[in-house]
Amino acid sequence: MRYAIVRKLDENSDHVADEVTKKLQAYGWKYDEENPTLVICIGGDGTLLYGVHQYMENINQIMFLGIHTGTLGFLTDYTQDELNVCLNDLISREPKINKAPLLKIKVDKWENPAYALNEMRIENVIKSQNMDIYIDGEFFEKCRGSGICLSTQAGSTAYNRSLKGAVIDSGLSVMQLAEITPIQHSKHRSLGNPYIMMETRKVSMLSDDFTTAMLCYDHIAVPLNDAKKIEVCFSDKYVNFARYREYSYLRRLKNLY
Ligand code: NAD
Repeated sequence: MRYAIVRKLDENSDHVADEVTKKLQAYGWKYDEENPTLVICIGGDGTLLYGVHQYMENINQIMFLGIHTGTLGFLTDYTQDELNVCLNDLISREPKINKAPLLKIKVDKWENPAYALNEMRIENVIKSQNMDIYIDGEFFEKCRGSGICLSTQAGSTAYNRSLKGAVIDSGLSVMQLAEITPIQHSKHRSLGNPYIMMETRKVSMLSDDFTTAMLCYDHIAVPLNDAKKIEVCFSDKYVNFARYREYSYLRRLKNLY
């Protein structure tokens, strides 16, 4: 098996990475950063997101596994305390694959699309952001406020949850649109509730002025500058989560609060 390690930049994660390398090399696994079959992310959910974006180009051909060096995260399957169990599973078991589809984000002024596992957000902390939302080309609503968040099932427990969006059960492939601190008054109203959509929907956000807004996707944030239109739909890319043991979504959910 060819593997690579992506780790959080701290001493503890370095130590875990050394242990993983020692064991896997002893069992004949080859370290291959360029062309891995399995990427082991050591740190937290943020480290896994970072790893996913590092390998975006060939993502469909790669499996991902997360080892949390703190408390159990949402995208990670083992904690540091379970390192021996994890390593034994790696060398003795065949993983089941859970596929998590990625959002594709096209900005009219950008050459290439961006991709997101958790969510994409348009956020403006400088001034209230006006934008028109179209779904499958049909006008849906005008949003005013700090922005919007469009999340996947995997991202439903992340930023979306802080916006009081619904947690989506694993196995469902949907997109969820939630507003970020929307302005609601007698002259302006928007839906106000999170809207859960079919996976085939295409959502467009249009504005004459995104100059002070940021496009945030997963852990990445980029200024929108003179962009006027952002289009989002599911892509043909996905993250292959390698599950070496029974995965309980409910257990993770209960760990969240
Ligand atoms: P980070 O890596 O420090 O993560 C922030 C928190 O979000 C951590 O507690 C992490 O465990 C949790 N998280 C990330 N993905 C998750 C998921 N799919 N389900 C449940 N929890 C999850 O922060 P970052 O690198 O700036 O951003 C990465 C992600 O963190 C973003 O995709 C966003 O969803 C999330 N985030 C959430 C908030 C919020 O809830 N207010 C704020 C910032 C970022």
